[in-house]
Amino acid sequence: MSNHLLLSIAGLTKVFGGLVAVNQISFDIQAGEVVGLLGPNGSGKTTLMNLISGALRPTQGSVTLEGRRLTGLPPHRIAATGVARTFQLVRVLPSLSALENVMVGAVFGPDQVSPGAARAVARSVLERVGLGGREHLHPAEMTYIDQKRIELARALAADPRILLLDEWLAGLNPTELQTGIELIRSLQAEGRTVLMVEHVMDAIRSLCDRCVVMSAGSKLAEGTPAEVLANPDVIRAYLGD
Ligand code: ADP
Repeated sequence: MSNHLLLSIAGLTKVFGGLVAVNQISFDIQAGEVVGLLGPNGSGKTTLMNLISGALRPTQGSVTLEGRRLTGLPPHRIAATGVARTFQLVRVLPSLSALENVMVGAVFGPDQVSPGAARAVARSVLERVGLGGREHLHPAEMTYIDQKRIELARALAADPRILLLDEWLAGLNPTELQTGIELIRSLQAEGRTVLMVEHVMDAIRSLCDRCVVMSAGSKLAEGTPAEVLANPDVIRAYLGD
């Protein structure tokens, strides 16, 4: 893993009415790292992902990608700067084929591409996530993990600097889960940088270089999976859920 600071989150805060959903969160992500974002339900993980991707504007604080301030930019500009995400609930467009769904991601990537180039990129990333030969199927004709592969391919099509995965492994059966873990591991081996909200302990232990744990909006702990999962404060936060 290189020692190249990629994403820097500094004092990030989001207040909804009287509720501090994200409270002064700061942490860095180095290029090539896979970082897990953990915490019980309602601890602010999704809100933090939304602040990074620009779906929400912070009340305070900033997000910086390779020295460039993302805070305040609209989501499409943040995407074009190199931040791609998948959503907890698969957001593929049912009327489009797998290929067309992914072409949408390529067209909105950091580089302006023609439809022909977008098609070539889409084919290549679909192959990459294990959907080679099935690119003309529509989501309704595919299994759940394959729909999730489309979502992942769409995010990869933009060749992002960082990939935000929001419980990408949730809802998979045990066999699919192992396949899904292997797929993320292969992205990690390619040097991809990932921030993943995840609850599946096997996945956290086997994939994450480091974890940030949130509780009630604040950062509760940060460290290796072994460190944070053995931390009494973390255990208490989960048990209190
Ligand atoms: P997590 O992803 O860890 O489950 P969330 O980020 O979804 O947590 O939620 C953190 C807190 O912020 C929760 O108390 C939730 O009810 C609240 N919250 C999230 N989004 C909104 C919103 N748009 N308006 C008001 N409260 C919200």
